[in-house]
Amino acid sequence: MNKIRGHFIEGKEVFDNGDIIKVFNPTNNEEISSISCAKDSSLEKAIISSEKAFNEWRQYSIAKRTEVIFEYKVLLERNKEKLAKIIGEDLGKVYDDALGEVRRGIENVEYACGIGEVIKGEYNKNISTEVDSWSEFLPVGIVLGITPFNFPAMVPMWMFPLALATGNSFILKPSEKDPHGSIFITELFNETKAPKGLLNLVNGDKKTVEFLINDKRIKAVSFVGSTPVAKKVYELSSISGKRCQALGGAKNHALILSDANIDYTTDQLISAAFGSSGQRCMALSVAVVSVKIKNEFLKSLKEKVLKLKFGSEDLNSNSFGPLVTMEHLKSVENNIKIAEDEGAEIIVDGRDLFKRKNSKSGYFLGPTIIDKVNSKMKSYKNEIFGPVLQIMEMNDLSDGIDIINQNKFGNGCCIFTSDGHSARAFAEKAEIGMVGINIPLPVPSSYHSFGGWKDSIFGDLSIYGPDGVRFYTRRKTITQRWPSKSTSEGVDLSMPNNLKQ
Ligand code: NAD
Repeated sequence: MNKIRGHFIEGKEVFDNGDIIKVFNPTNNEEISSISCAKDSSLEKAIISSEKAFNEWRQYSIAKRTEVIFEYKVLLERNKEKLAKIIGEDLGKVYDDALGEVRRGIENVEYACGIGEVIKGEYNKNISTEVDSWSEFLPVGIVLGITPFNFPAMVPMWMFPLALATGNSFILKPSEKDPHGSIFITELFNETKAPKGLLNLVNGDKKTVEFLINDKRIKAVSFVGSTPVAKKVYELSSISGKRCQALGGAKNHALILSDANIDYTTDQLISAAFGSSGQRCMALSVAVVSVKIKNEFLKSLKEKVLKLKFGSEDLNSNSFGPLVTMEHLKSVENNIKIAEDEGAEIIVDGRDLFKRKNSKSGYFLGPTIIDKVNSKMKSYKNEIFGPVLQIMEMNDLSDGIDIINQNKFGNGCCIFTSDGHSARAFAEKAEIGMVGINIPLPVPSSYHSFGGWKDSIFGDLSIYGPDGVRFYTRRKTITQRWPSKSTSEGVDLSMPNNLKQ
């Protein structure tokens, strides 16, 4: 009998008899554990404990809050190898990739350690004679975070360290496909001096999310996942009167100009297209190549891709791991089949490269390259989210920019070129939230903020960094005057204006 993992409420793991979801190791299709979906009574408990913790925590000084977040950073550093292994077992990420994810998560904790600097208010002395005005940035209350499977540690850390540092409490609802990394980082946080219940975790699915979004005691929702769900979560949150930032799916293009360094470009492109089996929202899934260099480019690309390693249960000997679930593997394979049926050309076929040996083996798919793709194809419009790179061609830069701008997603894109003028024009004209110049995965550092445009985000503010601080706080503006005892101006019913006084 495999272990059942419970929820993490008020500093300890709690169990209920909710519906069971099994979690499998994607490298070998063996069951790791089960989670039970939180019953309404557990969700109620989580909300009550979050409310209590918020009322205590909001009184903590900035110095005391920083001390807790810093303590958490130390715990994460001490446990990063263990966390990377958990992510490997749950999601099939190769060890170095998982460790990279953990490191990027910790960067957000480090940013949150500097909360005293970034939460400073705004102040104006003497906006009118002897009148001063300032704005303060106060916590909103209980924040709900709903996270996807592909970054079980980093994406929650995009959210809760900053939400907590700004004075809120937080309820995390991780992906039901690979919850163990999220459970582990929650357990670690509960080893700090923070009030119990400040960070609670509840397992579950759609029903769990809907229950929490409809509860008026929760004031804000950070969501990361696919576009249809992001849109729905944004709509439900808005109806329920909450602020919401909902980050959705992507289709990220790389433009390869005729003056690009082909060897460098194909190295970078392969890393960004096939790393994590393409299960990154910033993965490069489309290469739009100048017709002038396409043959030479594809030759270099194919040679290198055929040297990639995958398919071993020992993750350390793979370049990238399996897909997260059997269902997801089937969906990616289905998209390859759609592409074939639509007349695209499969020039490297990951289905042939990896023939599954028996039903017990993992959810592996080899790297796949699809040529002769055009923007009318269904397989191009879909977010495939697997180790699949689609190839399109362009005559010139403006052709390539048009392709990008007509796509409904707007998460990331990049250009490979040795011409600064073209790169500058690209950065200016691409209708995309995150742009790379000779950088394939332009994921902003924790000091900036992460967010796409168009159907890749619903809401006004990006996640983490300065936008994160604004999202997790609400502004209060105070205007004050201390008239001397002798001041007497009489009654004036006209609209006060600052020049008058
Ligand atoms: P998903 O949308 O299926 O699930 C995300 C979360 O929403 C999970 O916790 C899940 O339990 C919950 N959920 C699922 N269906 C729901 C529903 N109908 N109502 C309410 N909640 C629901 O996404 P996924 O498959 O876990 O993750 C992959 C997707 O996430 C891809 O589309 C990827 O591009 C996207 N993603 C985006 C970013 C970004 O920053 N834009 C980052 C990582 C992943």
